[in-house]
Amino acid sequence: MKAYTYLGQGKAALLDKPEPQLQGPRDALVRVTLGSICTSDLHILHGSVPRAVPGITLGHEMVGVVEAVGSAVGSVRPGDRVAVNVETFCGSCFFCRHGYVNNCSDPLGGWALGCRIDGGQAEYVRVPYADQGLTRIPDGVSDSQALFTGDLLATGFWAARIAEITPGEDTVLIIGAGPTGICTLLCAMLRRPRRIIVCEKSPERRHFVLEHYPEVTITDPEHCLQTVRSLSTHGGADAVLEVAGTEETFRMAWECARPNAVVTIVAMYDRPQVLPLPDMYGKNLTFKTGGVDGCDCAEILRLIADGRLDATPLITHRFPLSRIEEAYSLFASHADGVIKIAVEP
Ligand SMILES: [Zn+2]
Ligand SMILES: [Zn+2]
Repeated sequence: MKAYTYLGQGKAALLDKPEPQLQGPRDALVRVTLGSICTSDLHILHGSVPRAVPGITLGHEMVGVVEAVGSAVGSVRPGDRVAVNVETFCGSCFFCRHGYVNNCSDPLGGWALGCRIDGGQAEYVRVPYADQGLTRIPDGVSDSQALFTGDLLATGFWAARIAEITPGEDTVLIIGAGPTGICTLLCAMLRRPRRIIVCEKSPERRHFVLEHYPEVTITDPEHCLQTVRSLSTHGGADAVLEVAGTEETFRMAWECARPNAVVTIVAMYDRPQVLPLPDMYGKNLTFKTGGVDGCDCAEILRLIADGRLDATPLITHRFPLSRIEEAYSLFASHADGVIKIAVEP
């Protein structure tokens, strides 16, 4: 089968590989029907994910059809349409039992697919701990609707869940309107705060938010603090979700927060950030730091099935797997209004 394979820093190629096989009783084999390219794939290619193993198939956001399951798999059967979770987790360790699946202490746990083991930019993928890693897609939900369940929507849903948003009262600031920022926005909207402000530097992406979510207030980094202060009741945002991941946006996150706010860090930074504690003394902020606990996939799919959550506008481009290199170049370039690319094996 064809598999887009990481070959070491800066290099990847569409190679012929044998189809994966079940390796243990808790594995499932999934025929990929739709996949995507994620910013984390670019991070691997750029060498900023040291644990990524050269030779693995890239891709960790996908949906497909179960082809085969190991003897211990109980929640899915061959023929089921499934969303694949970005995280591998055992379901039984201390962290899993508390819902902190991102910190699963199993040796296989964490972000494995498309990083440490073969992922889904291929025709087939083996999913370990399939009872945890696969979620059945409800009838009536298309592959495109379900595509972002296991990664982007899981991240947005987790972020909005831990951000402690009070319905009807809060002003929520979301910094960054890339794919993860928009999914965070969609999930924050489900919590019905009084107002949501989105800060984004790219005019194209600001336009995307304006066009699709006219109820949201949009601002740019230059005007963010002023906009937030003028629109919030208590001198700043009640909840801040930082999804952009730069030094400037990290600072903006705590500066725009009102005293006693919760600042949720969704973004992944490529260098340490400074907490200038003397400057923020007395603000009594709570910081929550990143690493999605992707254990809400069933609820996400239910919300999609109910018509309450729709991330399909993010799919701005589609490519066949055979042209995935072209898709990567487009995705990396941010050209042509690209937000997310769906890859069809
Ligand atoms: Zn991702
Ligand atoms: Zn675990």
